[in-house]
Amino acid sequence: MSKIDSLPSLREVINTHGLVAKKSLGQNFLLDLNLTAKIARQAGDLAGCDVLEVGPGPGGLTRGLLAEGARRVLAVEKDPRCMAALAEIADAYPGRLEVINADALDIDIRAHLTPPIRVVSNLPYNVGTELLIRWLTPASWPPFWESLTLMFQKEVAQRITAQPGSKAYGRLGILAQWRTEARIVMSLPPEAFTPPPKVHSAVVHLKRREEPLFPADEKILNRIVAAGFNQRRKMLRASLKSIAPDMEDRMVSVGIKPTDRAEQISIEGFCALARTFT
Ligand code: SAM
Repeated sequence: MSKIDSLPSLREVINTHGLVAKKSLGQNFLLDLNLTAKIARQAGDLAGCDVLEVGPGPGGLTRGLLAEGARRVLAVEKDPRCMAALAEIADAYPGRLEVINADALDIDIRAHLTPPIRVVSNLPYNVGTELLIRWLTPASWPPFWESLTLMFQKEVAQRITAQPGSKAYGRLGILAQWRTEARIVMSLPPEAFTPPPKVHSAVVHLKRREEPLFPADEKILNRIVAAGFNQRRKMLRASLKSIAPDMEDRMVSVGIKPTDRAEQISIEGFCALARTFT
């Protein structure tokens, strides 16, 4: 029997290492290896890729990524209790799993990875949104990663992929879709996790665009979109008034009605408005 086949079940791992789920770390574990392999497959062909996994926990998704052929996995986990369990997996896949015991919000992992790089993670929901925004707003584009395959609370997944005219459409969706092709690839009920969270979850796959969808200066675009959606019930002529005195003229010049609300404006429209400043 190979070392891989001799890895204990994830329930045994949790019992052996006393991995009682901690709420403070957002721990809702995936224990079904068929499910974790299916999530790993949503990331595309992993052969020849390094994978960054944030929050491996007891390692269910880590095993899926390695079994699906990832060249190397770099796993960053904050909880020191998980280290022994992850070391067993590293032992079964020699040279293919590196584990770092750290807070993913504090470290720069790029030196540990060789392109092409894919990010695949089942993260606590609060950390997930913060990391997503960081990954979408690097100092220069294209970023270090080819794709992000991430678990989110269903409502956040819907915001990331929302279209104009919907309630979920806003800053996050515009940022994500401006720079990536983003789609929901799986939905998971609470019972898929141990312990089950209160909410439904969904996996979002974001494939980077080499160039943003439409040209625009990121800072100006962000300022306009933020102002528009911070007062999303107001008409744009009111919500964008503070940006420039001639804002209404600028809107009209790119075909946007000043009486429209932010959620009616496409990404193309926001980018056109941003370009009136450059
Ligand atoms: N990926 C595992 C799975 O699917 O079973 C665990 C998922 S659990 C939702 C989230 C994991 O992220 C936990 O193991 C938790 O300890 C870890 N975590 C929480 N905050 C973190 C942070 N700031 N940096 C790194 N890991 C973190």
